Amino acid sequence: MKRREFLKGAGVGALAVGASALSGCNRDEATATTAAARPQETFEWKMVTTWPKNFPGMGTSAEKLATLIGAMSGGRLKVRVFGGGELVPALDVFDTVSQGGAEMGHGAAYYWKSKSDVFPFFSTVPFGMNAEEMNAWLHYGGGLELWKEAYAPYGVIPAAAGNTGVQMAGWFNKEINRLEDLKGLKMRIPGLGGEVLKRAGGTPVNMAGGELFLAMQTGALDALEWVGPYNDLAFGLHKVAKYYYYPGWHEPGTTLEAIINQAAFEQLPADLQSIVISACRVVNQDMLNLYTARNHDALQTLVGKHGVDVRRLPDDVLVRLRSLSEEVVGGLVGNNEFARRVYDSYEGFYDQAVKWHDISERAYFDVRG
Ligand code: CA
Repeated sequence: MKRREFLKGAGVGALAVGASALSGCNRDEATATTAAARPQETFEWKMVTTWPKNFPGMGTSAEKLATLIGAMSGGRLKVRVFGGGELVPALDVFDTVSQGGAEMGHGAAYYWKSKSDVFPFFSTVPFGMNAEEMNAWLHYGGGLELWKEAYAPYGVIPAAAGNTGVQMAGWFNKEINRLEDLKGLKMRIPGLGGEVLKRAGGTPVNMAGGELFLAMQTGALDALEWVGPYNDLAFGLHKVAKYYYYPGWHEPGTTLEAIINQAAFEQLPADLQSIVISACRVVNQDMLNLYTARNHDALQTLVGKHGVDVRRLPDDVLVRLRSLSEEVVGGLVGNNEFARRVYDSYEGFYDQAVKWHDISERAYFDVRG
């Protein structure tokens, strides 16, 4: 082999290793070498999302992800973003990507709970891990590997691509003083939080964000939760509900996802694969930073300008919701071996995160005033 050819081959090998380390894909080096030797080839992808086009934080993060992929690839991979309902309905995103109707999607794993009980573990668990802990579990605690295993039968590759931080408990037109006050409420609340509401006597509804205002205004919903002040103000939810309760016991740090059609991903050269995965990682942290920066001011606007009545859920209600949550989450495992592995991994990581954060974050919060 001539020296120049050898160097070229070695460089491609290094790229392939880098890409599989990030993506966790099992690809043989020969495939990667062939793929990476096509620098002139360009790709055009569609990204379908569960959010209204350019909705603050979520829609804009999906746009940012597409822009980053385009810029990092020097225009070799162009991604066009579609808002919920533009190409397909918001809650059809997973199926669309699975079937190859779009190469990418942006949403949240708990929206697809009807497919598998374990999916919500990869978005958020009531009284579970916060944003930082979720990111640590996914990227350094085995969570992402389990998530890939969960989505593999659908031909879909997941990546964490955003986090809201702790959400609000939601919007109500009646006071919640006892757990019994949730009885009979038809409330938009996705994921495992919805299962907990069901045990408290309510009726959970899984509904895309863009439909919430009208549903609440027309009385199709009695209550709802969306995200937090920054996002809730943008939808004008203060116009259709009186009380704004906290804390978001049901969503303590929701991971949003980018999903990628596996066949489309495998057609990319190794460097573009690495760019897609790396851009998701950037947006994952960026969105959390944005929410932390914007939520307080938005809450001040809701209270000061719009007269929203902000209330904390009573301790007794939270204690009882917590116990119902433990029943719901524990009950998912059943006889399913995979669900048991996901549960054990999540709970094991949670235990050690709680212990460490007791003497770090919590101890610091207690003293900083
Ligand atoms: Ca929510």
